[in-house]
Amino acid sequence: MNFPSASHSAPHWRGFTPMADFDELVVREGQGCWLTTTDGHRLLDGISSLWCNVHGHRHPKIDAAVIEQLGRVAHVTTLGMSGETTEILAQRLAQITPGDLAHTFFSSDGSSAVEAALKMAFQYWRQCSEPQPEKTQYLALGSAYHGDTTGAVSLGGIKYFHQLFAPILFSPLRGPVPCTYRLPAEVSSESACDFYTQQFDAILRQHHSTIAAVVMEPLVQGAAGMITHPVGLLANIRRLCDQYNVLMIVDEVATGFGRTGKLFACEHENVTPDILCVGKGLTGGYLPMAATIARPHVFDAFLAPATESRQFYHGHTFGGNPLAAAAAIASIDLIEETDLISTVDRKAKHLRDRLSVLGVHPNVGDIRGRGLMVGIEIVADKTTKATFDSADQVGRKICQAAVQRGVWIRPLSDVIVAMPPLVATDDELDILADAIIDSIRCSL
Ligand code: PLP
Repeated sequence: MNFPSASHSAPHWRGFTPMADFDELVVREGQGCWLTTTDGHRLLDGISSLWCNVHGHRHPKIDAAVIEQLGRVAHVTTLGMSGETTEILAQRLAQITPGDLAHTFFSSDGSSAVEAALKMAFQYWRQCSEPQPEKTQYLALGSAYHGDTTGAVSLGGIKYFHQLFAPILFSPLRGPVPCTYRLPAEVSSESACDFYTQQFDAILRQHHSTIAAVVMEPLVQGAAGMITHPVGLLANIRRLCDQYNVLMIVDEVATGFGRTGKLFACEHENVTPDILCVGKGLTGGYLPMAATIARPHVFDAFLAPATESRQFYHGHTFGGNPLAAAAAIASIDLIEETDLISTVDRKAKHLRDRLSVLGVHPNVGDIRGRGLMVGIEIVADKTTKATFDSADQVGRKICQAAVQRGVWIRPLSDVIVAMPPLVATDDELDILADAIIDSIRCSL
């Protein structure tokens, strides 16, 4: 396939895209797991349109729900009033999210959901029943990624995304990168969970009186390269947050809505965070909407008459947009009606089985992830786990080769990501796996 190179005078400035050096891929339409470009090429959407598509493109039920909503009202503010469909969605989220999470604050993207969570936790400690105004810090994981707005970037710990902006950011306390692939030599995979738990314990023991919240992705740190945590770590951090009286903010923007084989990744370890952030898959990947969902004890700290000025000092023009809410309700209905989540483990096994032939490849260091959230790490040396020089652009070349094979994937540095829509069929998973396998073999 030949795609024209982008013009240097491109009117559309794209994020995380080298504007002088990329193939001009413009999609005209999508159907199911497939995208069709303006010049007629069909591409399998191997990363669910940036990890958000759940039911495929142009699902008739979601299309109909959005069209029906459009016939009533396209936008209503949630500041002081609200739209009927948005109210229904808030009730629905209270029913389906873990434990007693019950109060949804809407925004338009995952980064904004995290920003809201940060400010919510900060304001909470100033007006809860036992205020602790000295709690002004956050504890984030090593290599964290929570989005690109300034607060979310402050939490982040990925060199290329975050270091550049350091002078304009706040500095959180930084925990370890709890990865299972690059463990210190003295730590076995069986003891990895205890090893990392002790490190979080030490930081919390020393700083808990100044920490408002721990912020973390559960089970898998997506943008960091599908870094997969040891089983049990999430539950241990929940226990530590309770022990040290620190709020727990879990960012399920990437993992939420079925990606890991449960509706929410927290369910794998029976964890209910104090504040949950969701985005991407909330609307089935259709429309920009995200949510910050709090437990009653958090919400109650804001519950007061106007004279007390305890309302949450935060709000977005398009938060809770009714068209997006209609798409979200239709998507949740579909997840339930089709019992979609129960299929994820089997599909994930199918994809992993197909990819397992790469295990013997001299440059495939690790194949990891949970559910349909898979990363394949390419290394220069399998024994030392040394990476390629970033100038080699190995991940990018592999993904370009996959596009030539009719599959759209996008790397995270040298980690190749496979994150198809949850409705992908076995045949589509085979096409994805074959393209990745061929592209790695022909590029290295
Ligand atoms: N949090 C996590 C875990 C993410 O993976 C992302 C995006 O990839 C975000 C937050 C930011 O979401 P958005 O791009 O919708 O702002």
